[in-house]
Amino acid sequence: MTHPIHIVGAGMAGSEAAWQAAQAGVPVILHEMRPQVGTFAHRTGDCAEMVCSNSFRSDDDVNNAVGQLHWEMRAAGGLIMTAADRHKLPAGGALAVDRDAFSADVTAALRAHPLVTIEAGEITALPDEGNWIIATGPLTSAALGQAIAAETGADALAFFDAIAPIVHADTIDMSVAWRQSRYDKGETEEERTAYINCPMTRAEYDAFIDALLAAEKTEFHEGETAGYFDGCLPIEVMAERGRDTLRHGPMKPVGLTNAHKPGEKPYAVVQLRRDNALGTLYNIVGFQTKMKYGAQTQVFRMIPGLQDASFARLGGIHRNTFLNSPTLLDDRMRLRSRPQVRFAGQVTGVEGYVESAAMGLLAGRMAAAQALGRDLLPPPGTTAMGALVHHITGGAEAKTFQPMNVNFGLFPPVEAKSGRRGRKDRYPAYTDRAKQDFQVWLSAQ
Ligand SMILES: Cc1cc2nc3c(=O)[nH]c(=O)nc-3n(C[C@H](O)[C@H](O)[C@H](O)COP(=O)(O)OP(=O)(O)OC[C@H]3O[C@@H](n4cnc5c(N)ncnc54)[C@H](O)[C@@H]3O)c2cc1C
Repeated sequence: MTHPIHIVGAGMAGSEAAWQAAQAGVPVILHEMRPQVGTFAHRTGDCAEMVCSNSFRSDDDVNNAVGQLHWEMRAAGGLIMTAADRHKLPAGGALAVDRDAFSADVTAALRAHPLVTIEAGEITALPDEGNWIIATGPLTSAALGQAIAAETGADALAFFDAIAPIVHADTIDMSVAWRQSRYDKGETEEERTAYINCPMTRAEYDAFIDALLAAEKTEFHEGETAGYFDGCLPIEVMAERGRDTLRHGPMKPVGLTNAHKPGEKPYAVVQLRRDNALGTLYNIVGFQTKMKYGAQTQVFRMIPGLQDASFARLGGIHRNTFLNSPTLLDDRMRLRSRPQVRFAGQVTGVEGYVESAAMGLLAGRMAAAQALGRDLLPPPGTTAMGALVHHITGGAEAKTFQPMNVNFGLFPPVEAKSGRRGRKDRYPAYTDRAKQDFQVWLSAQ
C-alpha cells in the first residue's frame, strides 16, 4: 500500500500537483482552508480560484515563453490546461477563461478522482514525517507562515515582494552604458565590472523625476499593506520626498566614471545588477515601484542606454509570501532542512497562475515518483518548465531573489549559426529546442 501524499493548498499549484500524483497512481490528501478560513483575495471555496485576471496570458508556443509552458503542461496531461482549454473565451492570442466554470471544473475533476480526498481545514505546522507538498501561495495563512519562518529563519521567507524591473541584457545600449562596480570594488575583473551603469545629465534627471511623479500608480488592496514600508520604498515615493532623494539614494553618481565620456561627471546614474547565472538578465537596482505597467515601460525607457530595453518583467510591490528558494530548496524542490516537505507554486518564488501550476505539476510528479521508490530529475534547463525550476532552485542570485515569470532570458542562449540571431529567429529556436527536450524528459518516465 503506497502512503498518501499530503498537499496543502488547493490553488493552481496544489490542484495540479494532486492531479499529477493521483494520475501516477498515488493516493493524495489535499488540504484546503477555504471557505472556513479566507484570504483578502479569494471569494469562493473552489479549487484553483483565479484571484484577479482571468487570463493565462499568451498561448503562442512558438514565439512566447509562457505559450511554450502551456505546451509543456498540455504534453504532460496537466489538469489546469485541460480545464482552461475547455472554458476558453475569445481573447486574441491570449488564453482567457470563464473563471467560475474553470474552477468548478478543476474542483469536480479532483473530487471525482478515486485517489484524491479533499480535506477541509487549515494546516498550521510543518510535518515531521511523510511526503508533503506545501502549495499555500502568496497568501499563505499566518500560522503556517510563522511555522515556515521558524524553520527557515525570518530572512529567508518574505511576506512582500518588492520587484525591481528586469531587463534583457542584450537590449541595453552599451554605446551609452558601461560596466563598472562603484569605486571599482571587487577582487576579480568580473566583480569590478559587475554592474551596468546608465548616466544622466541634469536635464535628463529632471525630466525623469517629472515623469515618475506624473505616472499612474496602482493602489494596494485593502488589508495588503501592513509592514510593507520596511526598507523597500517605491522609487516614486522616494521622488515625492524630494527631487534629489533618488540622486542621493539608488541613483547616486559617486564612485563611477563614464567609460564613454571620462571627463564628464554624470548628474545621476542608474545601475543594473546581474540577475541570473547566465548573465542574460539585469535588474535595475533599487527601482521597486507601484507604477502601472504601461507607465513603467515609458518612464524606464527615458533612461539613457535603456531607450530600446525589453523587460523580462516589470516592477511591483505586493503582498506575497515566498521562500528564498535558491538557498532553501534542492533541485527536487525539497526543503533541504526537512526533505519530507516539498514546496510548489508561487510560494517557491515563481509568479503567475501558469508558472505556479507548472511548479505544482513538477512537484506532484516528483512526490509521486518518490512514493513509488523512484527518483525524477527536473526537466532540462532548455525547456520552459526546466528553465523556471533551475532559476528558483539555483540559477537566480539568492541575495536579490524576487519572484519571476517564465521568459526567454531564463533559457540558455541558442547557438547562433552566423552572428547574433534576430529575436524573430531566436524565439522559435528556443521553443523548438524546448519541445524536443521536454518530450525526451517526458518519455523517460
Ligand atoms: C491580489 C492578488 C492578485 C493576483 N493577480 C494575479 C493575476 O492577475 N494573474 C496571475 O497570473 N497571478 C496573479 N496573482 C498571483 C496568483 O496568486 C498566483 O499566480 C497563483 O494563484 C498562485 O498559485 P498558488 O497555487 O501558488 O497559490 P493560490 O492559488 O493562492 O493557492 C494557495 C491555496 O492555499 C490555501 N492555503 C493557504 N494557506 C493554507 C493553510 N495554512 N492550510 C490550508 N490551505 C491554505 C489558499 O486558500 C489557496 O487556496 C495574484 C495574487 C494576488 C495575491
